[in-house]
Amino acid sequence: MVGGGLAGITAALDCAAGGMSVTLVDVRPRLGGAAYSFERDGLWLDNGQHVFLRCCTAYRALLQRIGSSQRVRLQERLEIPVLKPHCDPVWLRRSALPAPLHLAGTLLRYKHLRVRERLAAIAAAQALRRLEPGEGRLEEQTFGQWLGERGQGEHALAALWDLIALPTLNLPARDASLALSAFVFKTALFAARDAGDIGFHERPLSEVIGEPALEALRGAGVQVKLKWRAQSLQKTAEGVELRGGEQEGLSAEAAIIALPHQRAAGLLGDALAGELDSLAGLGNSPIVNLHLIYDRPVCEFPFAAGVGTPIQYVFDRTAAARLASGQYLAISLSGATQDAHADADRLRERYLPAMAELFPRAREAKLEGFFVSREHAATFRAAPGSAALRPGPATSLAAIALAGSWTDTGWPATLEGAVLSGHAAAAQVLL
Ligand SMILES: Cc1cc2nc3c(=O)[nH]c(=O)nc-3n(C[C@H](O)[C@H](O)[C@H](O)COP(=O)(O)OP(=O)(O)OC[C@H]3O[C@@H](n4cnc5c(N)ncnc54)[C@H](O)[C@@H]3O)c2cc1C
Repeated sequence: MVGGGLAGITAALDCAAGGMSVTLVDVRPRLGGAAYSFERDGLWLDNGQHVFLRCCTAYRALLQRIGSSQRVRLQERLEIPVLKPHCDPVWLRRSALPAPLHLAGTLLRYKHLRVRERLAAIAAAQALRRLEPGEGRLEEQTFGQWLGERGQGEHALAALWDLIALPTLNLPARDASLALSAFVFKTALFAARDAGDIGFHERPLSEVIGEPALEALRGAGVQVKLKWRAQSLQKTAEGVELRGGEQEGLSAEAAIIALPHQRAAGLLGDALAGELDSLAGLGNSPIVNLHLIYDRPVCEFPFAAGVGTPIQYVFDRTAAARLASGQYLAISLSGATQDAHADADRLRERYLPAMAELFPRAREAKLEGFFVSREHAATFRAAPGSAALRPGPATSLAAIALAGSWTDTGWPATLEGAVLSGHAAAAQVLL
């Protein structure tokens, strides 16, 4: 197993459960891949806020498998406070009615849209429910274009649709593939009334994912080699041989490559004779998180979305990071192409006044810490045409399988997609 993110962890557990002798290598000193925590001034901060939904059943089952279910919390009902400067909070909240009626009331009352826009949004949601994400023509259009044809202009995109598109697709609706958008909205919001209830990690990600996964893997008999950089992979008569710089090579009957897509293409370039060259076309989309430590509480919500402000989402991470006094808020910025290249001073200038505008108590509070985490290649770009570039778990060589949230799971690059890809790759080598 090459790569110890969620895809590699899942595949390794499945292969070990299937009776294989498994070695997992990862270049970093820890497991968890793109979902991890780091220490700064004595506080444990997540590289990025990670949420999941009740419909992420594979991810939730993995948490259970590694003994982490009690470190996460699911909302009883989907509920998002949406804040706009100088306005009262407006709630996006599902009701107990069956889908799709569970969202009708909240959309009708959603004051960040004009009444005409709300009615058009309900009609667009009904049309979205009828789309088939697998249909090729949906890959040729952006979600924004499709919404535009249904009376949803820039204002409605920013005030409503991007609240879901940005955190799930890591692109704004105007750039995102219609096919993936339709998948997300259908799966998360229309399939069942409770599908979109939001799940939060109540401890730093390393405590929820990386550390318990290491324990579970070792418990399952998997040999885990950290700080092990895979540099080349060759096909041999018995299977494959993996080389890693200074380290001794590893021979195996089969290898699952669970690396980020560009790295997988690089590692397998020779063995698969360019079969993965098209992966370069998947591109990357960045995520930036700003970590703000205030000397007192300024935000009363566990999390909130923003409209009419550059702040997309803000999360209260005080308890998760075990901050004894004051408040630790993390601003999460998805599809953050510009902010990913801005320096910390620029980001302070842009976001501190926006915080003060959204949270009046922030004006009096003292900012005791400000950190930036940037993930330039957080996910692939979920743009039109991406589906054709995502391979399945099988390659032309029976000894090599692929895993990763960029493979063809049907999901955008998510925790759920990564876990599903791990199951699929393990099933491939266990055949
Ligand atoms: C900031 C941020 C926020 C996110 N928010 C959400 C969210 O809210 N909800 C959600 O569902 N998803 C979210 N995601 C996406 C989610 O984290 C990823 O889709 C998922 O974790 C990817 O898992 P993976 O196993 O496919 O890949 P990765 O986690 O990227 O794992 C690949 C592994 O390969 C290792 N590796 C790389 N090169 C080598 C090498 N040469 N040799 C050995 N090992 C190597 C890496 O160290 C890494 O551990 C977010 C991602 C980021 C970055």
